[in-house]
Amino acid sequence: MIGSSPQLAVVRADITTLAIDAIVNAANGSLLGGGGVDGAIHRAAGRELLAACEKLGGCATGDAKATPGFKLPAKWVFHAVGPVWNGGGHQEDARLAGCYRRCLELAREHACASVAFPAISTGVYRFPLERAAKIAVATVRETIAASGVTRVVFCSFNENAEEIYRDLLSAS
Ligand code: ADP
Repeated sequence: MIGSSPQLAVVRADITTLAIDAIVNAANGSLLGGGGVDGAIHRAAGRELLAACEKLGGCATGDAKATPGFKLPAKWVFHAVGPVWNGGGHQEDARLAGCYRRCLELAREHACASVAFPAISTGVYRFPLERAAKIAVATVRETIAASGVTRVVFCSFNENAEEIYRDLLSAS
């Protein structure tokens, strides 16, 4: 861990199992559920989560909205809408950074000390993993101090993502 920030960590896990103040969902703009991590979160949280999401009226790309975690061990779910990768010339980087920034703002509003992020947009939305992980780590490093969050976990679902995050966190 030499050279890495004590506030940022990597875990390899199913994000729905984490007992933490808030987990982030990689949602789509309708907020009405989807596949991947979104489907897993809705299955684990129970139907009340969908009912809560229905009241939010969708969410813009690059933004995020909060609901309780219901049956999840996490207290809150921040539903972030990442960009679909479309070659990189359509504000994908800025919109992905917006997701991380907004989630840390939501963490401040909801007094969360710990937040876990999946690798937003890197599944069905096809954002290149290494580029996305760099944006994730850089944006969290820039904004964590203002958020009051003391621990951010980058939750990797596979070995490749875990290794990329570990390399980024060990670089200053
Ligand atoms: P997107 O549509 O934003 O690309 P996906 O859910 O398809 O969202 O994928 C986002 C990332 O979440 C991928 O890196 C995928 O491997 C990961 N992922 C999928 N399921 C889980 C889970 N249960 N916990 C943590 N990460 C997950």
